Amino acid sequence: MTTKIFKITPEDTSNPAISEAAEILRAGGLVAFPTETVYGLGGDAADPSAAKKIYEAKGRPSDNPLIIHVVRPEDAERYAYTNDAYYRLAEAFMPGPLTVILPKKDTVPYETTGGLDTVAVRCPSHPLARALIHAADTAIAAPSANLSGSPSPSCGTHVIRDLWGRIDAIIDGGECEIGLESTIVQLKDREAVLLRPGAITADALSCVCEKVTVAPAVTELLKENERPLSPGMKYRHYAPKIPLVLLEGEEENVLHFLRRAQNAEKCTILCYYEELALLRNERLIDIGSEKDLAAQAHTLFAALRRADELDCDIIYAHLPPTEGLGLALYNRLIRAAAHTIVHV
Ligand code: AMP
Ligand code: MG
Repeated sequence: MTTKIFKITPEDTSNPAISEAAEILRAGGLVAFPTETVYGLGGDAADPSAAKKIYEAKGRPSDNPLIIHVVRPEDAERYAYTNDAYYRLAEAFMPGPLTVILPKKDTVPYETTGGLDTVAVRCPSHPLARALIHAADTAIAAPSANLSGSPSPSCGTHVIRDLWGRIDAIIDGGECEIGLESTIVQLKDREAVLLRPGAITADALSCVCEKVTVAPAVTELLKENERPLSPGMKYRHYAPKIPLVLLEGEEENVLHFLRRAQNAEKCTILCYYEELALLRNERLIDIGSEKDLAAQAHTLFAALRRADELDCDIIYAHLPPTEGLGLALYNRLIRAAAHTIVHV
């Protein structure tokens, strides 16, 4: 299959490529598109065969449910049973990087929800994503537009690398602003359970929800046969082909460890900007300032992809803090590292 590539700027919402891409979606095809979090691989959410094609193109197990994308929070009514808590979250955070799990209506096929009676709803803020959903005139079911197991795509180039030849079209709108996938919450009475941390932090959620709890799978290794609340959490994710090891400890000790490692091993180091001048390794990848978690989120997946392309035996990175946006970085990195943490 040849894949059409539409390269357009994020503001160019009236570009004819949008209606062409929407036409492809309406005809049951697949289109990858940018959002403010990462790129999504979209198909018509109401079409069971589109969901099957998505799983096939990604090489993704079909029990891993898709998120459906709508333009306005109230568009969820067509696909899900909403409630007050949903609208409180919507008022505070939509459009934006938040996904809410709701009981599904019959308009959403089980192929889209991975067999679940619930559906994940998100209302993205990216202008091209919004224009595409609007033009397609249906909700767009979309997981991240990467091959299953590789890091989520935070720019069009990543999507082209992974999915060219496997899908109908790619809208390349450059880099995604956030770079990590959306925050996912499940609502339980007056409580919000955080299933996947993202740019909407637990603290931000607690301004709107009475109680916020973090699902164990966010920070911990699942026991064998344990069923997580969010099926995607059970898969080894974002995994570089080269082993990744996370370092935890005082900054001074971490630096000492890295200095020795760079002399003794063929390693790649994902370092803070501040460390660039302090390390001498040939394979240093700057992930942003230690204090700037948003910058780190923005570069993390591109850094993991780059690290994987370098000729080395091992990749080292810092174990992020678990506060604020740090929790999202922590969650992605421990999964990429298969929970390999060295205390120094
Ligand atoms: P991705 O689109 O690649 O970011 O993956 C979507 C994530 O949303 C998966 O990890 C799923 O586990 C999660 N998800 C989607 N639908 C549901 C649902 N109904 N219940 C719980 N988690 C969901
Ligand atoms: Mg994904």
